[in-house]
Amino acid sequence: MKIATFRHQGQRRVGVVDPEKGTIAPFDLPAEKTEDGIACLIGMNPLPTLQAELPLAEVTLEAPLPRPRRNVFCVGKNYYDHAEEFSKSGFDSSAAAGNVPKVPIVFSKVPESVAGPGAPIRIDPKVSTAVDYEVELTVIIGREGRNIPKEQALDHVWGYTIVNDVTARDIQGRHSQWLLGKSQDSFCPMGPWAVTKDEIDLADTAVRSFVNGEKRQDSNTGLLIFDVPTIIAAISNGITLLPGDVIATGTPAGVGIGFDPPKYLKAGDVVRLEIDGIGTLENTCEEMKA
Ligand code: MG
Repeated sequence: MKIATFRHQGQRRVGVVDPEKGTIAPFDLPAEKTEDGIACLIGMNPLPTLQAELPLAEVTLEAPLPRPRRNVFCVGKNYYDHAEEFSKSGFDSSAAAGNVPKVPIVFSKVPESVAGPGAPIRIDPKVSTAVDYEVELTVIIGREGRNIPKEQALDHVWGYTIVNDVTARDIQGRHSQWLLGKSQDSFCPMGPWAVTKDEIDLADTAVRSFVNGEKRQDSNTGLLIFDVPTIIAAISNGITLLPGDVIATGTPAGVGIGFDPPKYLKAGDVVRLEIDGIGTLENTCEEMKA
């Protein structure tokens, strides 16, 4: 099931999407329930009844979790080919961990960095001149847990979405911690909707990105260094994972920094991310005029 957060007639709603038909059926939920997007459905059984379908073209999609309850967890250098390209880039302040990390590198993005599908990626040239894109399969946690063993990790997953882990490489390189370069306003596009976990084969799901139609990343979740159960086990080691928590699992090779010279994002660039079984997340870059 594909479930979106969207705006219709001035109200935030959540509903079931049928991309082939181009429709969305809102759940029968009062407005005060839908403020946190799809989070209101997590743990709800049965789901509320559906109202009459609306044409997708008549609604504005928002990030499935427009403002996650806390920072978005992210895994760095989690595909072999990207670990290699990033280590060569000169921006790798995690180089001491080795080209291929032995345990997951985990950082986070502040909740306020989340942006919806179609929302601009805002580039402030006074702050960064090295803004990059990263397509990432992203986990949405459905059940609380601490010290979750790998074997039970997927029982704690509600579903998946796509995140563009937009990064200011110059800031990432300058500060040893990645939070600042990863948490700039609008640097966490998420969507276009979430899918329930039954829709994704973690061992074999294609992950791609395009900038202005040019294919940049083309990989598969089967090539993750640390798989989803390993990531959940690592993060929940002493930290209680909560329903609605979001974990971006890392990006494959082909990011802007991997090219010589680097291909950073600029105003007007259209970044399209595709993950099979989920859909397409598209955002356009815009120069921030202060
Ligand atoms: Mg990333």
